[in-house]
Formats: sequence, C-alpha cells, structure tokens
Amino acid sequence: MTQDKPDNKCPFCRIRDGKLPVSMIHEDELVMIIVDLNPINEGHLLIIPKVHSPEMAGVAPDTLAYMMRMAQRMNKALRKSSYRCEGVNLFMADGEAAGQEVFPCHLHVYPRFKGDGFGFRHVKGQHFIRTDRERMDAIALELRELL
Ligand SMILES: [Zn+2]
Repeated sequence: MTQDKPDNKCPFCRIRDGKLPVSMIHEDELVMIIVDLNPINEGHLLIIPKVHSPEMAGVAPDTLAYMMRMAQRMNKALRKSSYRCEGVNLFMADGEAAGQEVFPCHLHVYPRFKGDGFGFRHVKGQHFIRTDRERMDAIALELRELL
C-alpha cells in the first residue's frame, strides 16, 4: 500500500486531509463519497478509499468489498433522488490504458437515462476481436490458474 508523503499533491488525499473544498456525501473510516467535479450526469459521485493506492491491486480487499456495498446504497439513493436516473453505471478505470486519469484508485457511480448521450463507443465489427470456443477455453484456463 502506498503511503502519502506530507507534501503530496494527490487531490483525493488533499480532500481527505481537509485541504481542498469538496461536496461530501458520506465519510467514514474506510471511504469518502464525494460529488464528481466533472459529472457525466447530475448525481455523479466518486467512492474513494481513504488509504491512498494508485491501483486497485493495492486496495485492501475488505475495503473494495465495502466500496461495492456503498455503491449499492448510493445506487438506491440516486434512484430515489430528484436527479434523472433510469439506470446507474459503476465504472473503475485501473491504469492509464484503461482511462484512469487520477491515480488514487476510485469508483465512479453515476445515474443514466435514455438519450443522455453518454456511452462507451462501439462500432460493431470494428472494436471487438473475433474469438472462438478454443480460444475462450484457453483464456479461462490461464486466468483460472492465476487466481
Ligand atoms: Zn492520495
């Protein structure tokens, strides 16, 4: 687990330490839940572990499980809220190639509705690789052995 240096510039650690303004939804010993500065839709929030780790692999498993429990609670809250919410996306980018832009691990939770204009771009036949059962079985075998 990466520990923060006193002079660190990590925005989430600075929020945790009370050094940046934030719209806090919930805070406890394990996580902070804040309103996202750059929302996909109104109600977009971030669940952030209090112990800084750049990668998902460095977050304590119990904390990750707790983040998912809190995501379920926030999902329910969003669906009851005044914000337009016909569905909810959970999104975690782990690594720059996956779209991670801020490098403490964090989980996005955001409301969705039909026609909101957001989505993963996928042009059928262009972005997905072809596969077959033999290849899928090989992938299952390799990943099973790495668990
Ligand atoms: Zn941090």
